[in-house]
Amino acid sequence: MTEEQYISDRIGEIRRRIVAACLAAGRHPDEVQLLLATKTVPAARIMLALQQGLRLIGENKVQELKEKYEALQSQPHEKHFIGHLQTNKIKDILKYGVSCLQSLDRIELAEKLHQRLQVSERQLDVLIQVNTSAEDSKFGVPPEEALSLVQRVAGMDTLRIKGLMTIGLFSADKEKVRACFDRLKALQQELIQARVPGVELRELSMGMSGDLEEAIAAGATIVRVGTAIFGQRIYPDSYYWNEHKA
Ligand SMILES: *Cc1c(COP(=O)(O)O)cnc(C)c1O
Repeated sequence: MTEEQYISDRIGEIRRRIVAACLAAGRHPDEVQLLLATKTVPAARIMLALQQGLRLIGENKVQELKEKYEALQSQPHEKHFIGHLQTNKIKDILKYGVSCLQSLDRIELAEKLHQRLQVSERQLDVLIQVNTSAEDSKFGVPPEEALSLVQRVAGMDTLRIKGLMTIGLFSADKEKVRACFDRLKALQQELIQARVPGVELRELSMGMSGDLEEAIAAGATIVRVGTAIFGQRIYPDSYYWNEHKA
């Protein structure tokens, strides 16, 4: 099997899973966007997926964003940043075409982004990353602190809040995983009720290769899929998720 065929088959399979999950939940499949989680995946392999008609990719590391930037230019796509962002790397995500930061998780990062964006007279879409699993090893604002972060970020006119993002608990217990996604959905409703001016909370980015069905059932509008399309990664996810947080 060619690499192209492999990717194309895998994407077909993920699309079928998304459609089935939507139908089971009484939702329209168009309500859910598929984001390619491309950490460790070489640009040439990402290109094969983009050529299958996918348009949205998510990178976790600034270094990879830079390395793949040129090679991906010829294929139209939208780029989100889904990893932990250090404040000294802000200028890079702006330079390398990120249209949405899905991992805004602290006021300090928002303030630095705002300063930088003001200077360049630009705006950026953001999702607030919430830690719904209470695992110490994951980034994200605790749910009970989300409203105050949203209120403060709403005051910064360079940042457009579009929704929430979470990483579900890693567990074989589907109910516990589902509870994380239900938590994010409930939080979205609470925040909408709070009617913070200028804030849109339409997007719920949740669900990955192993748990996208649970996420879609709970209301996901963006699922982020890596392994199920590109195959196993050589680095453990802890390399991406736990850095600088020990
Ligand atoms: C790696 C990653 C994904 C995709 O995970 P898979 O299990 O490979 O589908 C989704 N979201 C984030 C934030 C990631 O780092």
